[in-house]
Amino acid sequence: MANDAKPSAAGGHAWHALEAEDVLARLQTSAAGLDSGAAEERLARYGPNVLPAGDRGQALRILIAQFNNPLIYVLLAATALAMATGKLVDGLVICGVVVLNAVIGFAQEFRANQAIKALSAMVPLEAAVLRDGRKQMLGSAALVPGDIVLLQSGDKVPADLRLLAVRSLKVEEAALTGESLPAEKEARAVSADTAIGDRVDMAFSGTLVTYGTGSAVVVATGAETELGRISRLLQETEKLETPLMRQLAVVGMWIAVAVAFVSAILFGIGHLRGYPVADNILAAIALAVAAIPEGLPAIVTIALAIGVQRMAHRRAIIRKLPAVETLGSTTVICSDKTGTLTRNEMTVQALWTPAGAWHLSGVGYAPEGQLQAEGVVVAAMPAAVEGLVLAGTLCNDAVIHPDQGRWQLTGDPTEGALVVAAHKLGHSAADARSRYPRLDVIPFESERQFMATLHEVPGGGQVVYIKGAPEAIVPRCSGNGDSDGENAAVMHAVRQIAQQGMRVLAFAAFTPDRPLARLEEVDVAAGLSFLGLQGMIDPPRMEAIEAVAACQSAGIAVKMITGDHHETARAIGAALGLCAAGERALSGVELGRMTEDELRAAARDHNVFARVAPEHKLRLVKALQAENHVVAMTGDGVNDAPALKQADIGIAMGITGTAVSKEAADIVLTDDNFATIKAAVEEGRRVYDNLVKALAFVLPTNLGLAFIMMAAVAFFPITEGEALLPMRPVQILWINLVAAVALALPLALEAMEPRLMERPPRDPKAPVLSTFVIARTVLVALLMAAGAVGLFLLTYGAAETAGTAAASAYAQAQTEAVTTVILFQIFYLLNCRSLKTSMFRIGLFSNLWIYAGIGTVLALQLAFIYGPFMNSVFGSAPIDAYAWLRAAAVAVVIMPLIGMEKWWRSQHDRR
Ligand code: ADP
Ligand code: MG
Repeated sequence: MANDAKPSAAGGHAWHALEAEDVLARLQTSAAGLDSGAAEERLARYGPNVLPAGDRGQALRILIAQFNNPLIYVLLAATALAMATGKLVDGLVICGVVVLNAVIGFAQEFRANQAIKALSAMVPLEAAVLRDGRKQMLGSAALVPGDIVLLQSGDKVPADLRLLAVRSLKVEEAALTGESLPAEKEARAVSADTAIGDRVDMAFSGTLVTYGTGSAVVVATGAETELGRISRLLQETEKLETPLMRQLAVVGMWIAVAVAFVSAILFGIGHLRGYPVADNILAAIALAVAAIPEGLPAIVTIALAIGVQRMAHRRAIIRKLPAVETLGSTTVICSDKTGTLTRNEMTVQALWTPAGAWHLSGVGYAPEGQLQAEGVVVAAMPAAVEGLVLAGTLCNDAVIHPDQGRWQLTGDPTEGALVVAAHKLGHSAADARSRYPRLDVIPFESERQFMATLHEVPGGGQVVYIKGAPEAIVPRCSGNGDSDGENAAVMHAVRQIAQQGMRVLAFAAFTPDRPLARLEEVDVAAGLSFLGLQGMIDPPRMEAIEAVAACQSAGIAVKMITGDHHETARAIGAALGLCAAGERALSGVELGRMTEDELRAAARDHNVFARVAPEHKLRLVKALQAENHVVAMTGDGVNDAPALKQADIGIAMGITGTAVSKEAADIVLTDDNFATIKAAVEEGRRVYDNLVKALAFVLPTNLGLAFIMMAAVAFFPITEGEALLPMRPVQILWINLVAAVALALPLALEAMEPRLMERPPRDPKAPVLSTFVIARTVLVALLMAAGAVGLFLLTYGAAETAGTAAASAYAQAQTEAVTTVILFQIFYLLNCRSLKTSMFRIGLFSNLWIYAGIGTVLALQLAFIYGPFMNSVFGSAPIDAYAWLRAAAVAVVIMPLIGMEKWWRSQHDRR
């Protein structure tokens, strides 16, 4: 049985107390890893390496939240009151509609939540695994016990691992132990009773590698991991709440308080006027029902969910829901250069050595091109160039391979360009790497700005190659007669190549006098011999140029922050329209010397920052925030995490980003493209606009219905102890429910406002209930109340004088009043499709959902009027064509009125 085999490998062992060989033996594997057959078998036995979904409790939580709402309390109290005073049917209907409303809200919110969560889980987690003796990138779900995993800084540990070898490996284990300082790891066994936090030879699933590298064997996967056992996944799922939701919750509370207050006053007035108590209570209930926007929370969640989905469609994955809103008020975007603003398709074009300068032709990764000197093809390769490109291809982890006629790159594009350059000159990487086997490596880190490798030399002996930013390499060079004068010549060449917008890497070599077992930083600190420079073009993305311009016209400053040379940064910055051609780029060193005040001014006034290290990014974010900016900041490395967390919107790169940076980010770009940030900002603005539209639509209805009830209680005649009401409480609830669900919802799907990216960012501190929403609410509510009440009095008065049977005339007049409000809402909805622009200008049919909503409401209203069952539940009655005409004539008045309001507003805005 599959189950019998399980504990033998996965559970139960104190892996940390066993020696490495022992662990490998027990897992029936070796340091070379499993073969794919064995891995497949184990996958079938142990199951995929995923944590069990932890959202069983969530559905219940959402359901309870539907009722746990002050507005609902008022309604439930109203239900109880209605029943207590003998209005059994009314009570039941109110109760039924409250429940129905909650169920609809639950269904929608649950689906929206699932959609949001599914999207944030879309950021895939990969692991470097040795399988079939080869390093491969696999989805972490495919890992099985016995797999050998290679860790490097920036990775998220994909399973529970016993470390086999480490190199300055540090792991942050907060997910497991709560300790946020990274723990140093070692490969030696520890005693069996060691606590989890002290098991230095283990790396646990879900923790983050913040430094160094290591190799390790998988000892437990999925639910068998420490993380799986404590089910921390539940805590990881963030609360899906945004500032707007919180604001609206407060608004909802105030509405409830106001409703209670006004109801009490109205009850007093009714009492003084001699209202029968039961009717008086019913009127108070009707007021409560009328004034409360029951559907609002569901609309907000759904609008946000739609925003999240649309952003995902445009390649921005939202990891933290509040970002959807914050995006709309972003005032500055700080972006990486390489790969985000540029294409990250590097091609080496300039080669420079102390012996001369050359040009290399060809484009892309196809290894076809020629060496030229002053425009003439060079036939025999100079020895200096040979040494330079060989260093470039050996001190390198990238691979190029032909794939269906096109050359593909695996690895870092900067390194890919070097491989291609060497290949063009007759040194294929595979060939060179097998002739000079690599013994050790110091990997590239942004802070260090260099990478070094130790190789065996074919004839015997060793050689160290090092490559990196010229400022990091040149000072380490000496010997070879290198003097200060020559360094100046090198730096001059660097500037010249960089001024053309090229990324410049310097190369050096070093022959150790005695064989090295490993390569340490001290080994390459000085005494290297300089080999030369390679300059590679990395053209700006066309779409980034447009996106930068769009952001600037939208009042959003764009700042480029790069680790590259300042001349390179300046040239690219000018091409992107970020800075004037002559403008200086500020360097990280300069930033480091500044006081906080100087930094604030510099951050505000400069757009291009070069040779910036991650710690400067954090300071820049803080400086900009101190200037009251809402800051979006991109990052890809481990050390960018603090800046990403500090920024109002942290943006990680989906392709080149480390797991650590993605973890810290609010948004992940699946295409690493700056234009996607602009798209996300656009969507963020749209979501907010549409929410305001929904508010501007829903609130007037509630206030209008409240006005109707107030007018009735305060002024309507009381005949024979019976109060006259223009609408019954259940009818008001009907309007509320129908309007919120079927009519307000399509507004969330409305397209972008015209000239959306030509207006300044929204002030995040501005209240949702802006003067615009409030003024609109009062205006429309008054009109709606006047229309419905007027028509009711007119028709009921006419029926009375005509002597029609009182009961049916009363029901008909009430039905006509309800129909008036419904038609009024339909016409008003059309106007709400745009906040400022005429509905004819945005295109009558640009959002067909609106008509689906209107059709639904009309169908429901027909049932309400002509269905016998509905008649008996809601007290409605069939009405004739004239009644419809009258209702429509009153309702349509809203169209020219809002048209005029928009026109007036546009005249005022222009000033
Ligand atoms: P960017 O902001 O352009 O991504 P990086 O921090 O990646 O900057 O790179 C900074 C500098 O480090 C580059 O200008 C280059 O000189 C050097 N560099 C970049 N990639 C490598 C690499 N793989 N190996 C060695 N040096 C590198
Ligand atoms: Mg980079």
